Amino acid sequence: MRADGREPIREASRLLAGRRNAVALTGAGISVESGIPSFRGSQGMWAKYDPMEYATLHSFMQSPRKVWNMLSEMVSVCGFAVPNAAHKGLATLEAMGVVRAVITQNVDGLHQAAGSRRVIEYHGNLDELVCVNCWKRFPTRDRWTPGDVPRCDCGEILKPNVVLFGEPIPWLAQEQAEEEARTCGVLVVIGTSAQVSPACDIPRIAKESGAAVVEINPEETSLSGNVADLHLWGSASEVIGRIIERLKEADDVTPGH
Ligand SMILES: [Zn+2]
Repeated sequence: MRADGREPIREASRLLAGRRNAVALTGAGISVESGIPSFRGSQGMWAKYDPMEYATLHSFMQSPRKVWNMLSEMVSVCGFAVPNAAHKGLATLEAMGVVRAVITQNVDGLHQAAGSRRVIEYHGNLDELVCVNCWKRFPTRDRWTPGDVPRCDCGEILKPNVVLFGEPIPWLAQEQAEEEARTCGVLVVIGTSAQVSPACDIPRIAKESGAAVVEINPEETSLSGNVADLHLWGSASEVIGRIIERLKEADDVTPGH
């Protein structure tokens, strides 16, 4: 049942080349190869830190020092991480005119580091801190040191500019993501089961608007055989690399491209 032969790669490449207006939706799975643990699963952050205790806005406001212990771990890990072949592959696909935008649930900034230009960050980015009192923003590297709770000039605590449980998705990111989903020809879902609301709406909106939905995940998800038209079950870097190879081969034999 593993769809890792040549046919699904060929089919995905055909869809991408034919429609030329693909959008990628990425999640934690794409950054695992960069050494960033995903949240769910036995090795995930949530196995170590109960999200209801460590990742809600309420818990942050009640016990910022405790929540910053968890956040510090994330900031450290993400600070050392570099983009992997999957991030770079998506940037290449954008440069080739195949992918026009990346919607990401990740807060690690690795798509931008890889060279992707249009990145919609659904859950914010750890690179920036925001004051809970006056909303002033600071680059994380300017204010954060491990073990400390960073503070604003006004004396209040700084929170990473990421979406905690109990916080809304930034409205602009949500608007842009839904617009991309409504108007794309192909939605490529990578490294996420897109289960968390409202990110889970994106594949459904794309599908209902007539897009083909291609899933790249190592394991079966709730999208497989449901919203997804095509499943490429493998690591993101390997599958994206093979798609790029295939697209380049097709370009070589197609006059005028
Ligand atoms: Zn302030």
